[in-house]
Amino acid sequence: MSKTIIDLHLHSTHSDGKLTPPQIVKKLTQAKVNFASLTDHDSTAGSSEFNALAGKAGIKTISGTEISADQHGIGIHILGYGINTGNRRLLGLFKKQSAARRKAFDKYVAMFKKAGFIINKNKYGEFRKIKSVARTHVFRLIWEEPQNRELCFKKYRFKGTGWLQSEFINAFMELPGQLAYAKKKNILAKKAIELIHKAGGIAVWAHPGIEIEFKNDKTLNKVFKSLVSHGIDGVEAFSTARSLTKERSKYLCKLAHKHDLIATIGTDDHDGTRIGTLKIPLKYHLEALEKLHQKLTSK
Ligand SMILES: [Zn+2]
Ligand SMILES: [Zn+2]
Repeated sequence: MSKTIIDLHLHSTHSDGKLTPPQIVKKLTQAKVNFASLTDHDSTAGSSEFNALAGKAGIKTISGTEISADQHGIGIHILGYGINTGNRRLLGLFKKQSAARRKAFDKYVAMFKKAGFIINKNKYGEFRKIKSVARTHVFRLIWEEPQNRELCFKKYRFKGTGWLQSEFINAFMELPGQLAYAKKKNILAKKAIELIHKAGGIAVWAHPGIEIEFKNDKTLNKVFKSLVSHGIDGVEAFSTARSLTKERSKYLCKLAHKHDLIATIGTDDHDGTRIGTLKIPLKYHLEALEKLHQKLTSK
């Protein structure tokens, strides 16, 4: 049996990633990943280029996207695999989500500006052009100005310890009452799953439980139960997300087994540094692949 290493969660410059599809393919080749999916936020714009280049490099691919959706008022992410990237309804959703993203982006930036942060107008203009503009872009806009960092540390007592981006978002933009909180209107998870199915794909809950609202397994179980009732096909049991611990992965695998779901693997890479860093026994790669195939062919 040939060795299969999969990575079904990757972001490019078509959303909030720093690498272009060709650069990602290069990284995947170096890491010996041989089955991959480009899953940009609310977009499939990079799919055809990525799939073609990966194919040439001997890497198998499946079309993908990561849709921001709401469940029980919590913003979660749903991955769609094997979707028809030209599906009209899906493209319609991407357009709508893109408008909501830009609106939220403007709100975030205005709030930081009002609080005395410096905004680089050129960079702001550049980021605004990105269809899947996200809070990570707000982070970059703020953080790349040294004076803003000072302000964060001194006035707001921000303690960045390494995972700066997510710590920054959690400290300033995640909860009502924080400096730059804005509610972004997302599609309901039920609808997102439906749309993915109608576009011929399967739906997987991305990095379950990493959002700040999931402090305990009770919330995780509640959301999971609802997603199962909406027809979710899998959970991303393995991720590089720091809060997705070994115990959590084990638990998610157990849930997947119990409900006949795929337990998928994805690094959620945004800059090439995570590709190849998820070390998981081969059997999980093979199981995920087999189940994925089974789910896709039974659609
Ligand atoms: Zn995500
Ligand atoms: Zn992601």
